[in-house]
Amino acid sequence: MSEAKIIDGKKAALALREKLAQHIARYDKKPELAVILAGNDEASLIYDRNKQKAAQEAGMKCEIFHLPETVSQEELLSLIERLNADDNVNGMIVQLPLPEHISQAEVLKHIKPEKDVDGFCPVNAGLLLANSSEAIAAATPKGIMHLLKSVFPDLSGKTAVVIGRSNIVGKPLASLLLNSNCTVTVVHSKTRDIEAETRRADIVIAACGCPKMVKASWIKEGAVLIDVGINRIDGKLCGDIDFDDVKHKASYVTPVPGGVGPMTVAMLLENTFEAFLKQNNLKK
Ligand code: NDP
Repeated sequence: MSEAKIIDGKKAALALREKLAQHIARYDKKPELAVILAGNDEASLIYDRNKQKAAQEAGMKCEIFHLPETVSQEELLSLIERLNADDNVNGMIVQLPLPEHISQAEVLKHIKPEKDVDGFCPVNAGLLLANSSEAIAAATPKGIMHLLKSVFPDLSGKTAVVIGRSNIVGKPLASLLLNSNCTVTVVHSKTRDIEAETRRADIVIAACGCPKMVKASWIKEGAVLIDVGINRIDGKLCGDIDFDDVKHKASYVTPVPGGVGPMTVAMLLENTFEAFLKQNNLKK
């Protein structure tokens, strides 16, 4: 079989961001995103600065609220309440993980669902499960759906296996696939025979954080593979799929880096723009 085609997430994300910038340029008022970061985790700081840069390039306003590691839950919740009440702020994200003394569930519960552009709060998770058009879908799964639709404009009837069941990737992704009429299996660390599941699938999405776990022997000929994992081996980035091993068996595969990662930021901006339109009763 010939080599798998690359699904270029970097290119797709750039196209989305350019289109977004053109839309935003038409409005006098600009969408505004607030990013809350508690603590000094270096990787989180880099992620948030990248989000800010991307938002500004698209013509949005974006402020990072950088709080000390020692910030109390009450202080964090009062910042969220302030941003909830500020009509100029259309979207809000809280960088995870939070310092250990703060309850993530409690914090996410306080973000106004209409401003929850990460789609992590329980209201949006529930709306997504109910296949409601009101749901704000989590950015990474939404980006994955965009990439999949570039391969399969109609996903109806496809068999998809999602490896991983986290609240931010695996579960919302399973809902989106189901809402697109896929037959979905979610596997996790307690699944008895993952390979038996993945070998039957038209689409395999790996989101487990296990470097190069998915091998050619795990997939069927011509499968479409999406790699969400971000891992490092000897300092070098790699995904959850063994790219070199699967590339002669899969039909399409996303690279790491340059696959799902760039789509996450693009979808976060899209969610913010859509929240801005809704909150201001504007049409695209
Ligand atoms: P979590 O650690 O929250 O969840 C990992 C999931 O994978 C869990 O459900 C876990 O199962 C499952 N899992 C772990 N080991 C195995 C195994 N050996 N076999 C099968 N399942 C396993 O991770 P996230 O969902 O937050 O992230 C997953 C990966 O995606 C990470 O590498 C992360 O860095 C990356 N990521 C990338 C993003 C991007 O933009 N590209 C965005 C978000 C995450 P169990 O529930 O049983 O413990």
